[in-house]
Amino acid sequence: MKSTLLRTTMVFGLTVSTALAYSGVSAYAETSSDIQQKINNVQKKQEQNQSDLNKSKKELQSNNNKQQSVASQIQEVDENIENLNVKITGKENQVADTKKEIEHLNKEIDAAKERIKKRDRILKERVKTMYINGGSVKPMEVLLGAKSFGDFVDRVLALNTIAKQDKKLLREQQEDKKLLEEKQAQVKQKLDQIKADLADMKSMKADLDQQKAKKQSLLKDLKSKASELHEDVVGKQEQADILASQEQVLKNNIAKLKAQEEARKKAQEEAKRKAAAAKEKEAKQSAPVSRSSDPNPAPATTRSTQSAPESSANFIMPAAGVISSGFGARDGGFHPGIDIASSTGTPIHAAADGVVFRAYHSSSYGNCVMITHRINGHTYTTVYAHMSGYNVSAGQAVSQGQTIGAMGSTGDSTGPHLHFELYQGPWTPPPHNGAVNPLNYIG
Ligand SMILES: [Zn+2]
Repeated sequence: MKSTLLRTTMVFGLTVSTALAYSGVSAYAETSSDIQQKINNVQKKQEQNQSDLNKSKKELQSNNNKQQSVASQIQEVDENIENLNVKITGKENQVADTKKEIEHLNKEIDAAKERIKKRDRILKERVKTMYINGGSVKPMEVLLGAKSFGDFVDRVLALNTIAKQDKKLLREQQEDKKLLEEKQAQVKQKLDQIKADLADMKSMKADLDQQKAKKQSLLKDLKSKASELHEDVVGKQEQADILASQEQVLKNNIAKLKAQEEARKKAQEEAKRKAAAAKEKEAKQSAPVSRSSDPNPAPATTRSTQSAPESSANFIMPAAGVISSGFGARDGGFHPGIDIASSTGTPIHAAADGVVFRAYHSSSYGNCVMITHRINGHTYTTVYAHMSGYNVSAGQAVSQGQTIGAMGSTGDSTGPHLHFELYQGPWTPPPHNGAVNPLNYIG
């Protein structure tokens, strides 16, 4: 199934399954205690693997906790940045408004200056006029130019009044200008303060941005580490699957050996019994009719030993490759077949003679072919999943070894492999209770 598998296990798995594949032949050479030794080794490996797996799972859990904590920290920083951004925008608006205010004051000051200039000119003009009207350069002569004393007094009063008014206006205007300039100075001070606040906020935001970047990079590291750990866990789980299936196969092999041993003993006893019966008969009848049918029990024994593996030697490996995942319990679920991994395009063969009854695309199986087989009076079903394509169709008869498609990674699959299922009887829907371990049926 998945891509990650410890090479050592795969090599180990291959050696064992190769040995087991010929168990029918080599079983006599291998004793039960040899196999038990192998089982012990597998169990030791399972224990080690389980302890490693628990360690990796713990690490993954702690990594996930850290990720959650960092992610919530990032969220907090994000909220702070968001708040600060709102404040910065407010301050920037204040800067713009204050600049406008200063500009407005500038215009008013300019206008005041203009008014003062004008008033100043009027005042000077007035003094000049007094001389011109008097026809003399001396102010006294202006006054002396009066036709009467009354006229003289009027002139003096008039001149004084006008000059006083002009001076008063001038003073008022100068006062206005001073006030405007004071106000402008205040506003400029205010602007400086706003700008200082804004600069503080911007530097605070820069800090937060930096904090956020650091946390994001930490999160990224944690995620990449988690992905490694996850692969590690998946690899070890697959390894556990393989080890468990290896153990099962070895146990089956011991059982087979015992059955063979029992059958052999039974046959020997039967032969003894028959020989004794024949002798007795011979002695009773004392007839010399001797039928050389004594070796008959031997073929009978052969037949009985054949009937046990009758179901086991009729299928072939449907593809070349390594068994990347075994049959049985996996990830708290059930893997109803075996995964044979190799490269895309590796030919897939019919595991036995049969008739194709389904050739279709499934969202989970991908491109999939199902074949029904009739062997020694029993029905079997084989399933070939995740193929890149197939070249057979429903109703078509196929013979063992015939290419029916090519290896791929279609459907619910993470890499090129053949997912191969074998059923004693018809295919059964999930949880595929009728599925059996194909390795026990491949000769
Ligand atoms: Zn599979």
